[in-house]
Amino acid sequence: MTYQVLARTWRPQTFADVIGQEAVVQTLHNALSAETLGHAYVFSGIRGVGKTTAARLLAKAVNCEKGPAPEPCGQCVSCQEIAEGSSLDVVEIDAATHTGVDNVRELQEMLRYHPTRDRYRVIIVDEVHMLSKSAFNALLKILEEPPSYILWIFATTETHKIPATVLSRCQQLEFRPVPLEKIVERLLAIASEEQFELSRDAASMVARAAQGSVRDALSILDQMRGFSADSIDSDAVAEVLGVPRFEVVVDLISALAGGDGMTGLGMLRSELRAGHDVWVLYQEVGRVLRVMLHLAMNADVAEDLPDEQRQQALEVAENLGAAAVTRMAGLWLEHEAMVGSADNRELALDVACMRLARWPAVQRVEALLAGEAPPAVGGQGQGSGSQAPAAPTDGGAHASASPGGRLSSALWAGGQRRLVGAVEGSTVRLSDDELVLEFSTQAKPLAVFARQCFDELEASCREVFGSSIRLTIEVEGGVAPGQEDENPLMREALADPGVILVQKVLGGEVISAVPDGEPN
Ligand SMILES: [Zn+2]
Repeated sequence: MTYQVLARTWRPQTFADVIGQEAVVQTLHNALSAETLGHAYVFSGIRGVGKTTAARLLAKAVNCEKGPAPEPCGQCVSCQEIAEGSSLDVVEIDAATHTGVDNVRELQEMLRYHPTRDRYRVIIVDEVHMLSKSAFNALLKILEEPPSYILWIFATTETHKIPATVLSRCQQLEFRPVPLEKIVERLLAIASEEQFELSRDAASMVARAAQGSVRDALSILDQMRGFSADSIDSDAVAEVLGVPRFEVVVDLISALAGGDGMTGLGMLRSELRAGHDVWVLYQEVGRVLRVMLHLAMNADVAEDLPDEQRQQALEVAENLGAAAVTRMAGLWLEHEAMVGSADNRELALDVACMRLARWPAVQRVEALLAGEAPPAVGGQGQGSGSQAPAAPTDGGAHASASPGGRLSSALWAGGQRRLVGAVEGSTVRLSDDELVLEFSTQAKPLAVFARQCFDELEASCREVFGSSIRLTIEVEGGVAPGQEDENPLMREALADPGVILVQKVLGGEVISAVPDGEPN
């Protein structure tokens, strides 16, 4: 027995077997039941979603000996001939290979004859958008005065290429890409009937690669059977499709999220050695980041994933949080053009990978310059030295934090961010009734700034440490009276929130202040 491809063996023979096109099937059922069928239909949608199948089913339904009925019997001579493609009253034309006007003249010739046996002469034109302009004109004339015994069914993947004059004389039915879960169920059912093993993970990968097309999914399954005979698992599918396994991609993202670029590059190397394409790898990482983003926003999102994979992605997503995943996904997306067009695409992918591993550092500087508290995320770039105060997470001061840390947190949370630098630039001492901010001689300008904001600072101290606390500002070695006012320009510069932030983030020191436009 010769092997027949699955798409042919498992072509639906009733409307009930057509998956993922409920709206179309319902519309046709209604029209058949109420006998309100149009004389011309346009079936549009991506390839492999059941347009031609539905056209043949409709032909059967109108010509069935026991019909017209919503479901053809499948047993009568007419039904069987249509299924075999031998019915004289059902004509199938592929417009992709018959684009000249002559064929339309042939059609017109055919239209002069009534159906030989059945109720309707059904003319199915596949890829109708390929017809020439003159062919469409001839078709338009036919459609303007349609013979009652003709049923036209035009199938197309590109509706916009059909002239509006023709479209307006047809009923349009839109075929949707078939949802992943429905394709998975279909594949598993077929595997069970055909008696070969197919794991759910594997079915899911095949369905994803088919992008909503049942025919493509079945054709991949045909390939898989040629490759691994009677037992198909996700490893085999990954190998045939050249797609990295989901688990590997999640591990890669997890490593990069932790700032571990070395591990990330190593994983990329082994995926590339396994023969996976750079572009496919890039896209898979993007796809998984998107899954994680959705899961981070809403853990209940189904995301068409097997439970195990979903759980794995959810853990990483929840650990990172939505803001971090969004940032990583954004960074990854920025490299699309580079990875897609670079001559050395492996290098481009490595660079994208390293950029992603550096994301916490990039995130932190941006957040600080924007005046936001950085998210508490582990990984590279969180080193000491320029640590920003963490925003209080419990709405109040941390009992365990240092007095300076508690005051900084309160100032940060209270929107007085320009004062945080002053507190951080000092040594903070707390006693029963006094909080002392002591500045080194180098930090004297900061002390001057702190004194200018004395009332604000003291109010914050009292909020944090109690209403009886006094604030004292000291400079190492003391400051002579009047010395504070020595350079008003310097005071102004030091009070500038931008300057304070830059000092804090980049660790700079203000050496001199000059008026705008003057050389320093
Ligand atoms: Zn029948």
